[in-house]
Amino acid sequence: MPSSLYLKQIELGPMENFIYLIGDPETREAAVVDPAWDVDTILKIAQQDEMNITKIFITHHHPDHTNGIEELLNHVQAKVYIQKAEAEFMKQIWSDTVKVESGDVIRVGNIPVTFLHTPGHTPGSQCFLLDNKLISGDTLFIGFCGRCDLPGGNPEQMYDSLYNRLGKLDGRTLLYPGHNYGKTPVSTLEEERKHNPYLQFQSLEDFVKFRMRR
Ligand SMILES: [Zn+2]
Repeated sequence: MPSSLYLKQIELGPMENFIYLIGDPETREAAVVDPAWDVDTILKIAQQDEMNITKIFITHHHPDHTNGIEELLNHVQAKVYIQKAEAEFMKQIWSDTVKVESGDVIRVGNIPVTFLHTPGHTPGSQCFLLDNKLISGDTLFIGFCGRCDLPGGNPEQMYDSLYNRLGKLDGRTLLYPGHNYGKTPVSTLEEERKHNPYLQFQSLEDFVKFRMRR
């Protein structure tokens, strides 16, 4: 197990997106999760922290999570990791794109990151698990879950992702969402299982009715 981990949460853009820098403090290699809105700031923080960006991890294709990829690739040489099922929705596929599947483990330096496919917000939405931390994109927010009424959205899949796939993870797992929509920027799965209204349903049918109401 890695003894330490570099993780920086950066809020950028008009939609309160969270961009993440994750990496290995020993090898100084880092990945950017969902580069968007203000690439200069992302680069500046990486530089200040003496981290080298070698990978780009994408939770899903929506522009507020991806509109900085192109510009970032002008500054760093990095592979872009997207979920297999999300590839067809990407505006562009770069030559260095890697299509990943659920359960794949990619190392950033010596830090293993597990990719979890969590469809529902989009068909190829994915979360990243590193150590006891989950970066959840637009699948699970603090106090909310992602919308399922946009193209490719599917509330049945969202239920499965939240209750069965993420439901298997330890309650002490720290939750790092894709937007700053909650009372706090970070939560735990246990906290969300107790208080998040979207995690209180006993049946798929009730969840779908509730989720599609708004
Ligand atoms: Zn989205």
